[in-house]
Amino acid sequence: MNADLHTHTYLCKHADGSAEDYVRAAVARGFSMIGCTDHAPMPDDYDARHRMSFEQFHSVYKPAVLELREKFKDVIDVKFGVEGDFFPGTEDWVRDFHAANDFDYVIGSVHYLGEWGFDNPVFVHKYDEANIDEIYERYFDHIRRSAESGLFDIIGHCDLVKKFGHRPTRNMDEIVRETMKAVKASGIVVEINTSGLRKPVAEMYPGESILKIAHELGIPLTLGSDAHTPEDVGRDFDKARALIERYGRGMVSVFTRRQRTEVRIV
Ligand code: ZN
Ligand code: FE
Ligand code: FE
Ligand code: ZN
Repeated sequence: MNADLHTHTYLCKHADGSAEDYVRAAVARGFSMIGCTDHAPMPDDYDARHRMSFEQFHSVYKPAVLELREKFKDVIDVKFGVEGDFFPGTEDWVRDFHAANDFDYVIGSVHYLGEWGFDNPVFVHKYDEANIDEIYERYFDHIRRSAESGLFDIIGHCDLVKKFGHRPTRNMDEIVRETMKAVKASGIVVEINTSGLRKPVAEMYPGESILKIAHELGIPLTLGSDAHTPEDVGRDFDKARALIERYGRGMVSVFTRRQRTEVRIV
């Protein structure tokens, strides 16, 4: 099976193409599963410029993905998901949102540290104004709390903080290990996300040192391109598959109505 579990749509205002365009791209590449996981709405105008509104979720996104799931059911397995944000203080709203919608799965991502959208190129100068080690510590603390929140099925791009190539000055293995222990205890999985290869850091999320630790702890893996344009569906999956062989016994986790199963990736 070949599956891409992380894709976006034009509704988030920083991606091209409809959900159907991504589904068709996956079919054209011979995939047997595609997950639609556009950025979920959030309460109180949180990052409203980079996501669909609650109203659009209900009037456009959800009906479109559910219709595609039915329309393509003999061709490709279309999953109904979202990429949710972990942001302290929004947990109750997000929990209710997930409970009210019958998602196949939810990716949990950290895109903000306080007010700072640290993966936004517009605010990249902030890395130069702060202590990089402290940024990494805060970032992994958020990842740990996102796992412990119980809100998510997948930890998305779990070392996104490296996106622009800023590296900590000291070894982060101990912090990563404590973070991954929390991920393991929560029973959720870590995503191999190929989009980092297309960013200044030019490497997969997560890097191999983190995958080694996840593997030692027996954390299952899943796989996504994080495509923001249909051409990027399945991008660099040959490289990702090599990592899944090495650190995941060649198996990836897939989800149906938030139940996890494992399939062999080929
Ligand atoms: Zn995005
Ligand atoms: Fe993300
Ligand atoms: Fe994404
Ligand atoms: Zn993402």
